[in-house]
Amino acid sequence: MRVQFWGTRGSIAKPGPSTARYGGNTSCIEARSARGTLVVVDCGTGGHSLGQNLTSAGSKGLRGHILISHTHWDHIQGIPFFAPLFVPGSEWDIYGPKGLGQSMREALAGQMQYTYFPVTLDQCGARIRYHDLVEGTFDIDDIKVSTHYLNHPALTLGYRLEADGVAVVYACDHEPHSRMLATGHGDITGQDLRHAEFINRADLLIHDAQYTAEEYPAKVGWGHSTVEYVVNLGQFAQVKRVALTHHDPLRDDDAIDRLVANIRAKLRENPSSLDVFAAVEGQIVEIAPSPAKGSARRAGEFQAEMPIAPALAEWCVLLGIADTKMAAAVSKTIRAEGIHAKFFSNMDEARTLIAKHRPSLVILEHDPPRIDGMGTCRAIRQQESDATARCHGRGTGGSDGGGRGGRHGLAHQAL
Ligand SMILES: [Zn+2]
Ligand SMILES: [Zn+2]
Repeated sequence: MRVQFWGTRGSIAKPGPSTARYGGNTSCIEARSARGTLVVVDCGTGGHSLGQNLTSAGSKGLRGHILISHTHWDHIQGIPFFAPLFVPGSEWDIYGPKGLGQSMREALAGQMQYTYFPVTLDQCGARIRYHDLVEGTFDIDDIKVSTHYLNHPALTLGYRLEADGVAVVYACDHEPHSRMLATGHGDITGQDLRHAEFINRADLLIHDAQYTAEEYPAKVGWGHSTVEYVVNLGQFAQVKRVALTHHDPLRDDDAIDRLVANIRAKLRENPSSLDVFAAVEGQIVEIAPSPAKGSARRAGEFQAEMPIAPALAEWCVLLGIADTKMAAAVSKTIRAEGIHAKFFSNMDEARTLIAKHRPSLVILEHDPPRIDGMGTCRAIRQQESDATARCHGRGTGGSDGGGRGGRHGLAHQAL
């Protein structure tokens, strides 16, 4: 597998003389299997150069996959500037953690609203599919991808890519659960042990190492690791190489040099086969299987099949709007988000559509006396209450009954 770093800076892009060598762009890496499968992990500002590089190669029908760790700016700001998404004929799959409210598509579309950016997500020329992920395992062509929740003030996934007999793990952004571990001391147990198991025997670990143990007391709860913790973790999990990344924007190149020199001196004192380096923007790392190492695959507990659900494809919105201009405008907006829109003009039609499609939302025009949206709303709610009562009255309290009840609840809330 071949990995190239396109963004190594944490939190905010920091171009300038003090970061010229390690790079000022935020998180983005490119991974390619020997067979050519292209996976981009995170698309911070580094995604711009990667996109230019891909399109300048002249490939019209570009096919790739983008794994987003989380939707903090420094991990998604390259998306609106990622040229391959604007090339007709290109095909991209974008994956990210499934949140409780927003889908990955909604979160990415949010930063491309007109207030922030002149082109909306649905105006990208490429064919884009979205996948909301939970913990588990799935395949992207010949690359096996495992996901693992990280400890960060946003729903965040780490990714483990396995192909060509090697394993690469990307874990940004993550703070050890034990504060003691962040200071470079203590045992790796509990959730921290689970994290170590996720990266177990990786050939390359690309890990958030934004702070140092000395800086950590002022950064507790910020959701980042320390260099000392990452080095201990790499040794504990028998990792081959560790790439320190998500460099603090306040850390200049010389300071990173000193950090790496100190780590290497310590590793020499206590003989260790671990290779530690600080990721450099533009750097390419070729990873080949070590004949002596055996299988890089992890134990079976992470092999569970992972459901990948299309974020919005099955959502349905009902529209009770008489004004044809308004109806057309609302419908266009909704369909641009990949959501089905259904119209009704009377309660009989509404009843039929609700029973058939179980809409997540009903939008009603209310302009009395011409059109009584509130009356329609009350009638729909009454119908749903009756249906819920009938459902409970029949005593269908099993999982199916519970699920139906939940959907009724959702419909009421949306109304
Ligand atoms: Zn970050
Ligand atoms: Zn973050």
